Amino acid sequence: MPDNTAPLPDFTRWPSFPFEGEMRVKPLAAPVELEPPRNGEDAADCVACNTPDDAYIWISERWRVRAMDRPTGLPMVLILECRSHLDLGDLPNLLAAELGVMTVRLERAIRSLDGVARVHVNRWGDGSAHLHLWFLARPYGRLQLRGTFLSLWDDILPVIPEPQWRENLALVAAWLAEFGGEAIAEPPHIQWEAPSTITYSPSATNDTDDRRPATLGDVQAQAEAKDVQAQTEAKDAQAQTEAKIETKTEPAPTVASENGMLDDVPTAPTRATT
Ligand SMILES: [Zn+2]
Repeated sequence: MPDNTAPLPDFTRWPSFPFEGEMRVKPLAAPVELEPPRNGEDAADCVACNTPDDAYIWISERWRVRAMDRPTGLPMVLILECRSHLDLGDLPNLLAAELGVMTVRLERAIRSLDGVARVHVNRWGDGSAHLHLWFLARPYGRLQLRGTFLSLWDDILPVIPEPQWRENLALVAAWLAEFGGEAIAEPPHIQWEAPSTITYSPSATNDTDDRRPATLGDVQAQAEAKDVQAQTEAKDAQAQTEAKIETKTEPAPTVASENGMLDDVPTAPTRATT
């Protein structure tokens, strides 16, 4: 077991490491003998299998692409899923071959967006059983975000404006549809709505809050130990309840607002894209 007073690993001194100041390594928990099942091991309980096409930005006969339910710090974060309830190592040759094609196509589509330098492609698979690949766009010029910690920076950077995010979703969907399938995401419509009439509707998300992660950070948190997860969910539920009680006119919480980084947070998404 590592000594948590030992010197920190080199990566904590990399320019891309998002944190500074006093830190120490967490004590390592003992390994469990039997790992708990992931979310949706059984297709009947699988969020991906039970989510309708209109929650996705693009669909085809065997593949679907979805976004987070709100903009985050990176210009684009998308998830590629197969329709079949399979994990990576279970894909038959047809889907395995198509996964390669889809990966290249989606990388190209996201890289074609203004201000995107690189697209990171990740598959963790510790949280949910149904195959899902993450595509994370690194903003152009942000050399500090290169490499390993891009997914952490997604929760740190100021949230990108929602109209720009929606426009980018529509562009990616349209790009993919050029090769087949159907674009679901549409460009944002201008809504001449006074800020005082914009309401936070908890019902838009509470059906999926405990089933589908809202952001990449939430997903990674799900892979943590169950007691920690239960505590977090209890806290979230409590916070949501308090938010409902305190005010009904606040915009939906975003990563930035939760971090207190921005006062003028974007308004709540009008259509859930989870
Ligand atoms: Zn599934």
